[in-house]
Amino acid sequence: MNLLVTGGSGFIGSNFVRAVINKPQITKLINLDCMTYAADPENLRDIESNPKYIHRQGDIRFMNAVNDAFYAHDITHVVHFAAESHVDNSINGPKAFVETNIIGTFNLLECARKYNTKRFHHISTDEVYGQLGKTGKFKSTTAYNPQNPYSATKASSDFLVRSYGHTFGLNYTLSNCSNNYGPRQNEEKFIPVVIKSLLNGDKIPVYGTGSNVRDWIHVKDHCDAVWKIFTRGKRGETYLVGANNERTNLQIVQTICEEMNLNPKDHIKFVSDRAGHDFRYAIDASKIEKELGWKPKKDFNKGIKETIEWYKKKY
Ligand code: NAD
Repeated sequence: MNLLVTGGSGFIGSNFVRAVINKPQITKLINLDCMTYAADPENLRDIESNPKYIHRQGDIRFMNAVNDAFYAHDITHVVHFAAESHVDNSINGPKAFVETNIIGTFNLLECARKYNTKRFHHISTDEVYGQLGKTGKFKSTTAYNPQNPYSATKASSDFLVRSYGHTFGLNYTLSNCSNNYGPRQNEEKFIPVVIKSLLNGDKIPVYGTGSNVRDWIHVKDHCDAVWKIFTRGKRGETYLVGANNERTNLQIVQTICEEMNLNPKDHIKFVSDRAGHDFRYAIDASKIEKELGWKPKKDFNKGIKETIEWYKKKY
């Protein structure tokens, strides 16, 4: 297959490219990424010499850029990661989120239709389901209830993908994953912020009371799930991906401080809460576990330890 990966120079995309580039099914892998602030060329530096790998700098907001990539590389399959992905930025400037997450996905879908793409895998988030109270978990049948511009644009893109399946017969799969952590994440996100603040001797900014809950998964486990869904998932199905690993933000800070032999009390600075901050997300991943035999492998404490080591080397 000639696989188009969008957003391959970002956090999850680069981990995915690294994980799959040598799979025998892939003849060439084209990474279409316009290199926003969230991309880091270092993420794939050592992959650049792989003869199967092609980086194509292009912006999915523009149909010509997407069409040219499909045409030039005879694209047969797509895994679509590219997005504006930071909730705080979507509150300060939602327009880029509408343009990349909605229009960009539309442009890809139009080209997938035009060039008869064999499979289109769309990467989404658990945030499209809105927030949970203290109990319950999201399932693929949970009604969408996005609460911020980021999740609203991701929800819109999910609906567009499904509509192309239903209306035009596009062969698609879709996955909604919980919060990822691991190497190569942009330093604006929570876990890199915590590690970097501690390394620099700065206070860690924690929103509100630090009691918001997220279901954390190692990026490698997510990438493994994406490959399984993309290659073996049922056409037109949505799979939820999570590691059954709920933690409050305060617990995350505590774990990282313990790993670094620091006392969290000395290093936390509570800041005013994010506008409309969703309280809790949790995933019921039983569908992908039963249907595709996927299970997360990385133990959280071990994963965090390795992640800290990775950022220590980076900074
Ligand atoms: P990221 O912000 O680290 O990377 C996004 C990548 O997309 C960057 O390389 C960027 O340059 C590229 N990009 C952005 N706009 C583009 C455009 N207009 N044209 C071409 N390329 C563009 O994001 P991430 O954390 O790796 O997330 C990847 C995907 O996974 C997103 O769709 C996101 O919604 C989804 N997701 C992320 C998480 C998480 O915890 N990070 C969880 C669930 C789902």
